Amino acid sequence: MDPIAKLTAGFQKFRVGRFEEQRGAYESLVDEGQRPKVALVACSDSRIDPTVLLQTDPGDLFIIRNVANLVPPFEEGGEFHGTSAALEFAVQNLDVDHMIVLGHAHCGGIRSMFEPRGIGVDDSQFVVPWMTLVWSAYLRVQGTMPDAPVEEKAHVCEQAAVLVSLENLMTFPSIRDRVGDGRLRLHGWYVDIRSCSLQVYDPVQQHFELVG
Ligand SMILES: [Zn+2]
Repeated sequence: MDPIAKLTAGFQKFRVGRFEEQRGAYESLVDEGQRPKVALVACSDSRIDPTVLLQTDPGDLFIIRNVANLVPPFEEGGEFHGTSAALEFAVQNLDVDHMIVLGHAHCGGIRSMFEPRGIGVDDSQFVVPWMTLVWSAYLRVQGTMPDAPVEEKAHVCEQAAVLVSLENLMTFPSIRDRVGDGRLRLHGWYVDIRSCSLQVYDPVQQHFELVG
């Protein structure tokens, strides 16, 4: 089927199926507005669809997607901070209780840093500079396991990048304040769709723990 026709057919299916079944819930979400309790930063990767993987309902999740599920540090100035704008809206307007950074296995963005040509010499205009956000994680992996296969390095870096994003979240004053007084909790998650497993970062033990 033509990929666009598949999408419009999908919407027709939604209208007579799920929408009809949950019409009341959709009407409430419009009349009363959205009040998601959780904001989630996920990768743009077509295989990592949070609403499918986490089986959520409309209104459950405020989702921010970008290449490699990265959070930039707080920066003043500049004009087009898409991820920062969405984070600000989640915290200041929606007042979410939780914020999750959802990393994932087989991430093309992370993997691109380990490709033979390497970061900084690619002809990418936007992805390469964007990926320098987790340059520290890349360097740590290259330093601690220089001879490991790329697959293994990328896996370690994918998880390390989640931690860098969690650190960067804390550079936003509005997030730092809310975490400080307990109004907001931050979470680092990692999903693998090959093994169909979910790991959650335990800040006390300092490792990702399998939860399902
Ligand atoms: Zn990815």
